[in-house]
Amino acid sequence: RGILSLLAIGALAASGTAACTANVSGAGSRPRIGVILPDSKSSARWETADRRYLAAAFKAAGVDYEIQNAQNDKSAFTTLAEQMITQGVDVLMIVNLDSGTGKAVLDKARNAGVATIDYDRLTLGGSARYYVSFDNAAVGTLQGQGLVKCLTDAKATRPVIAELNGSQTDNNSTLFKEGYDGVLGPKFTSGEYQKGPDQWIEEWDNTRAGTAFEQMMTAQPDIGGVIAANDGLANAAINVLKKQGLNGHIPVTGQDATAQGLQNILAGDQCMTVYKDVRREAAAAAKLAIALAKGETGVTTAKVYDRVGKRDVDAILLDPKAITRQNVRDVIDDGYVAADEVCTGE
Ligand code: BGC
Repeated sequence: RGILSLLAIGALAASGTAACTANVSGAGSRPRIGVILPDSKSSARWETADRRYLAAAFKAAGVDYEIQNAQNDKSAFTTLAEQMITQGVDVLMIVNLDSGTGKAVLDKARNAGVATIDYDRLTLGGSARYYVSFDNAAVGTLQGQGLVKCLTDAKATRPVIAELNGSQTDNNSTLFKEGYDGVLGPKFTSGEYQKGPDQWIEEWDNTRAGTAFEQMMTAQPDIGGVIAANDGLANAAINVLKKQGLNGHIPVTGQDATAQGLQNILAGDQCMTVYKDVRREAAAAAKLAIALAKGETGVTTAKVYDRVGKRDVDAILLDPKAITRQNVRDVIDDGYVAADEVCTGE
């Protein structure tokens, strides 16, 4: 058969028709996958982990791929997606900047016959065929439980809790908040803890987070615990606490197990972080993308409900892990962050 089809291609090639060119290049072309990451500032993960591990997974599978970063620019995001669709990607995988632009891009891809995957963030009302992420409500629960543990260890009495939530346009932020509010809510009701300021941080912007937290501390100087939705927001809060000599006295949560987050934990300034092994997320997403590119259906393990689109999305949701001072080593032993990135020898 191999020889026969080679002969057939040879015959077509010899005939020199347009059909021949199409057939030959069609037969030889490899699946092509396009990925758009959201930015490089809201978390170190996108450039240091996601890009790297997605590229590694695609390379290992021998598919053609292109990974771009929209740098927090919605029109750039749209343009990148349009270019990828025009260039003929088989699969488009996005981390949306918000559900509106995400949906527009996914719909365009679908209309052009391109298969789609929501990576890490679900596009509400969108049309992605699959969703690959961590169990984001579980991430929030770990953050809530981590803060409670640190406050208990510090023997805090009726602490006022401040919340620095992620961007309100990121569905994950809502899920993280549902998770930690699920832990903290009953404690507010019972009077064990006091509800303090609670704010969404636009675009997960660390500078905005610093300003917001400074204002919170001014308005309510007795803040005794801080939920910060990721390590970047945590670091912004820690910098404000440092100026007042309060770092290490007021527990702050985080997420992403970034080198900076782990450093802050070892310094005693951050209570915990959430380790989401992006290698697993990237590998799962790449596997699905490759199946889709080959016209196969992917294997999923969960369903996620899109409350805007009112539909179940086939998904893969991975388990997050809480990291405190006691098990920072696990992240390093795992090879996720290098020891010399964390222990800078100051
Ligand atoms: C991701 C987090 C990340 C945040 C900011 C969220 O959607 O799940 O890992 O820290 O975006 O980029």
